[in-house]
Amino acid sequence: MRSLSNAIPAGTPSRRPGITPLVGSSAAIKKATALAVMLVPLAGFVLALRQLASGDWRPLDLELFAAGYFVQMAGITMGFHRYLAHKTFRTSRMVEAVLLIAGSMAAQGPLMFWVTTHRRHHSYSDQAGDPHSPHLFGTDWRSRLKGLWFAHMPWMLAPDVSGWAFFAPDVLASRRLFFYHRTYLLWVLLGLALPALIGGVTAHSWAGAWNGFLFGGLARVFVANQAAWCVGSISHMFGSKPFKTGDQSANNWPVAILTFGEGLQNNHHAFPGSYRHSVHWWEPDLSGWLLAALGKAGAVWDLRQPDAAAIARLRELV
Ligand SMILES: [Zn+2]
Ligand SMILES: [Zn+2]
Repeated sequence: MRSLSNAIPAGTPSRRPGITPLVGSSAAIKKATALAVMLVPLAGFVLALRQLASGDWRPLDLELFAAGYFVQMAGITMGFHRYLAHKTFRTSRMVEAVLLIAGSMAAQGPLMFWVTTHRRHHSYSDQAGDPHSPHLFGTDWRSRLKGLWFAHMPWMLAPDVSGWAFFAPDVLASRRLFFYHRTYLLWVLLGLALPALIGGVTAHSWAGAWNGFLFGGLARVFVANQAAWCVGSISHMFGSKPFKTGDQSANNWPVAILTFGEGLQNNHHAFPGSYRHSVHWWEPDLSGWLLAALGKAGAVWDLRQPDAAAIARLRELV
């Protein structure tokens, strides 16, 4: 286990390379944006629950929720994470567009924020500088609980910024990829408007549009993001650790099922360049299975994965 001597009060800007503290209005803007990302979908989720409780809903609302969940999770895991942050496969511009637009609909922040934050997480995993580690507060149960909560959501409020040129010069240099960063808000709004449109048109009413907006839009963002943020919190604290990774990443099956494979964090930190997070066929990794199928269909190619010898080598270190 890595020493916790690096522990700093979480949320304090770290002096490690690539991290710049934010002050004044920049810090306030970041905080306000993060609060909106956390609280607006929560409000939508509560309103959707009220609709469910009152019986004022249609099966289509739940279908819009499920379809939206799939699109957002597939976009984040296959597009933002495995394609862009780790470059684990290649694909056409068309598939790239679909994946990055779907990922933007998750409202987890613009593409540059996501990629720089994530690469920083891998650079400083569970040490000072990791943007969302649950292990930076201390080792007693109260500190661990505080860390778990911090790594789930409040990490987004930290007054610092992950350097674009430091963590993602490749994305910054690409006009094609940067386009999806610039147009982020458009895709978030589209992700909210589409289910509203489908709900409204099929019900011929504003009430139908409202339910579509709530279930396929805000509530979907809330539930899917709660699952996604469990990857940084729960999957760095609870689960099995078949590989020695030098951090606290763990394979957590419930999180992996909800996040299409991302909860297999120990596997992923051991082999970050692999398109799949499962090492065995029976580990739940929907995005890995989908990418393998897309590879067979010729829609994606150059899928990278460790060979059996590399897996065996790393396993022996435990
Ligand atoms: Zn991780
Ligand atoms: Zn990763």
